Amino acid sequence: MGKLKICMFAAEAKPYAKAGGLADVVSSLSEALLGQGLDVMVFTPLYREARRHEGVRKLMDLPPVQMGDRSYSSALYFEAHWLPPRNYFIENDEFFDREGIYTRPETGEGYEDNFERFNFFVLSALAALRELQWRPDILHCHDSQAALVPAYLKTGKRERVFFEKVASVLTIHNLAYQGIYGREKFGLTGLPEILFHPFSPFEYHGNLNVMKAGIYYADVLNTVSPQYAKEIQTDADYGAGLGPVLRERSSDLQGILNGIDVREWNPETDPLIYAHFSSEDLRGKLINKQKLQRECGLPELDVPLIGMIGRLADQKGLDLLMQVEKELVALDCQWITLGTGLKKYHDWLQKLAGAHRDRFAVYLKFDNQLAHRIEAGSDMFLMPSHYEPCGLNQMYSMRYGTIPIVRHTGGLADTVREADSGSGTGFKFYDYSANALLEAIQRAFHMWRDKASWAELIRKAMSEDFSWQKSSQQYVELYKRAIEKTNQ
Ligand code: ADP
Repeated sequence: MGKLKICMFAAEAKPYAKAGGLADVVSSLSEALLGQGLDVMVFTPLYREARRHEGVRKLMDLPPVQMGDRSYSSALYFEAHWLPPRNYFIENDEFFDREGIYTRPETGEGYEDNFERFNFFVLSALAALRELQWRPDILHCHDSQAALVPAYLKTGKRERVFFEKVASVLTIHNLAYQGIYGREKFGLTGLPEILFHPFSPFEYHGNLNVMKAGIYYADVLNTVSPQYAKEIQTDADYGAGLGPVLRERSSDLQGILNGIDVREWNPETDPLIYAHFSSEDLRGKLINKQKLQRECGLPELDVPLIGMIGRLADQKGLDLLMQVEKELVALDCQWITLGTGLKKYHDWLQKLAGAHRDRFAVYLKFDNQLAHRIEAGSDMFLMPSHYEPCGLNQMYSMRYGTIPIVRHTGGLADTVREADSGSGTGFKFYDYSANALLEAIQRAFHMWRDKASWAELIRKAMSEDFSWQKSSQQYVELYKRAIEKTNQ
């Protein structure tokens, strides 16, 4: 087999657009694949933020995209910084010249035209490949925003011809976001109306479900951790209604753990933190803690400092914390939380920080530098997630000697080993309950007081390998399987 040509379609890619882990994964996976000698290109929409990058230039106008009775203009941009280019952007200002990626920043509500936006994106990106006569071996589609692509490849009139023998891979980064829209949106796909009927791949309780179609039509599928791959095939919440559909594709569904960008997240070289450190010399870690306390207006006390970073969504388990507010306030520790999301969590965190300024520092914004500083300066990092497809922050944490306290679910279960077991790297709890969470925090505090054991735990966590090395090889194997399937 010659050099594999991979083309990714994703709603996020760093550094052009980031709302969460998807952006990190798309860019660091593509870099790891390039490192393995594959040809990789990545298509994302040209959001307002991407336009601000100096190297982003226009390549050509693309044919207009027809959706329903409207035609939308479109153009292709690329990042001139890389040779050969790897990042491509689809322009349409009506859809993408906005501050948010999926949601209106003022309200946190999803844009009403998200179906149109991402359907336009994939149709236009497919048209770009046709215009340029670039036929990849694999179209690697990320999440619901690109999940209609496998359906277009198998059932679309134009796509079926040009992309014959092009294999499709769908990566499910988070099954909770399936892209469910009113049935009338199906008309905007241009696919034959007879494809939409009860129990068809597109239909879900009378609506259009984009992820379901992707699961049905993709040649192979994967999720971002082995444990999450198991969980989503159950009928419990994890399957989010698609458990039976996923079980049908069980033999084509795999879990591949995300890696992290070990160059960006390296405490020995990270330019965003206050002092560098390594597992052999941990002195810098304490400097990071003290400076972080100062920056966040917390007293410089020798108490456990717990960091939390992420989208403030129900998935992340903040409701557990809210249930035990009194107990949290009584703990002898400090908290720094950085995140944006649902208003109920903003309000609660703000109230907490207002009432206990010496214990809780809260930042309701997106701030990459502060994220690095929290990872470097905290003693512990809390992720009480209800479910977690993979999670990146627990891996960043371990790399920075910040001990994760996590619920045993999805990628958290796969990446954190219980410290009480002796060879562990963090603290875990199993039941989704506030008491189990508190108990795990107490166990962490107990070990923290024993400075020698704690330093040993830090060293173990820091020596874990979360690079893309192994996982990118698994993706290459997945691509090969997809190609085999299309050639059968
Ligand atoms: P998810 O993809 O569910 O949002 P992950 O843990 O997989 O969760 O990835 C989240 C990524 O986004 C991490 O890189 C994290 O540091 C980053 N992140 C999330 N919220 C913020 C924020 N408010 N400021 C800075 N970085 C953030």
